[in-house]
Amino acid sequence: MINFQIQNPTEILFGKDQITQLPTKVKEYGTKILLVYGGGSIKGFGLYDKVIELLQAADCEIHELAGVEPNPRLSTVQKGVQICKDNQVELILAVGGGSVIDAAKAVAVGATYDGDVWDFYDKTAVAQSALPLGVILTLAATGSEMNRGSVVTNWELKEKRGAGTTFPSFSILDPTYTYSVPKDQTMYGIVDMMSHVFEQYFSHTEHIQVQTRSCEGLLKTIVEYAPKVLADPEDYDARATIMYAGTVALNGQLTPGVETDWASHAIEHAVSAIYDIPHAGGLAILFPNWMKYVYKENTDRFKRFAVEVWNVDPAGKTDDELALAGIEATRTFFDQIGAPSRLADYDIKNEHLDQMASHATRFGTIGGFKKLEKEDVLQILEMSL
Ligand code: NAP
Ligand code: FE
Repeated sequence: MINFQIQNPTEILFGKDQITQLPTKVKEYGTKILLVYGGGSIKGFGLYDKVIELLQAADCEIHELAGVEPNPRLSTVQKGVQICKDNQVELILAVGGGSVIDAAKAVAVGATYDGDVWDFYDKTAVAQSALPLGVILTLAATGSEMNRGSVVTNWELKEKRGAGTTFPSFSILDPTYTYSVPKDQTMYGIVDMMSHVFEQYFSHTEHIQVQTRSCEGLLKTIVEYAPKVLADPEDYDARATIMYAGTVALNGQLTPGVETDWASHAIEHAVSAIYDIPHAGGLAILFPNWMKYVYKENTDRFKRFAVEVWNVDPAGKTDDELALAGIEATRTFFDQIGAPSRLADYDIKNEHLDQMASHATRFGTIGGFKKLEKEDVLQILEMSL
């Protein structure tokens, strides 16, 4: 295990009706609020009205940044930064999924910075300060509700980039708010959280039994509960399990002291920067191909994955057969929950493969499990066509 330090300051308020605590939480930070939300799903099931009612009852001055896109855009973030600067906003409140939260994080760090907020994503500046951020989560997927990551797309440059920004101060996680998430978005969320675990599980670091077993337990739980949420979107316990799984998958507690990978996310960001496809749609296609491409770097890890996560019977199988059976089980599971399997499913052909591979590797090699050069990324993209 590698030495590590972990600290996560986000306060989680989990469960039904936790929103009643919103007025108290808000008052800890100030009453001038920027409410950030997406394309209106929160109005469809009454959450918007509830939030406004609670904020008004707490005498808040409410400003709004509405219409945050899935794969949030820099131009939208810049609008939010301006609203904060013009109105001395004291607290940002993000109500939505990962896109809304990521945009709100970008606004939070941009609002206390004199330069362009893109500098943080361009790695020419590091965020030193931020406005406080509260979150009301409506989609189980990214873990953004309890981490400091933020992914923003610069549509002009066709670049989708992540940056370390700011942790939410508090996040309200009420599983009933995810009842209205449609089947496809529920499936994408499941693929995304599983992919976050994969990125951390496939590692060469030794003596990481706690982390390894944590990853396996989480993956098995997601695999068990995914069909339940898909079959019955209003199954509270299933929604709660999947919601908490998404948080734990990427809040830093799963694999401290482990060298992680993240190449598949880097490749996916390069794909969705050009084609604007759902993040997890890209991951569902790319991840099994990444697995096939890299498994020989540490076949034992993939053998273990097959047996522990997918219950593959090792009897009579060679090392390669066992490793490949685990990868096949991953693909089969993604198929069963309705995930895409080829870039062609999004009408993506081979025109921009070179551009995507260059983008993915623009800062050098990617990945920890196998260091991928541009040529490796090209091959994974070709396998994914
Ligand atoms: P999302 O892009 O936030 O939302 C996808 C869609 O789901 C939107 O159309 C949204 O509608 C809808 N939706 C959300 N909640 C809903 C509800 N309760 N009922 C009905 N529809 C609902 O999806 P996401 O997967 O959470 O976020 C994806 C983004 O996060 C990507 O940009 C990805 O790169 C990034 N990401 C971030 C991290 C991180 O750690 N920060 C990790 C992985 C990925 P509305 O717009 O109307 O709300
Ligand atoms: Fe992700």
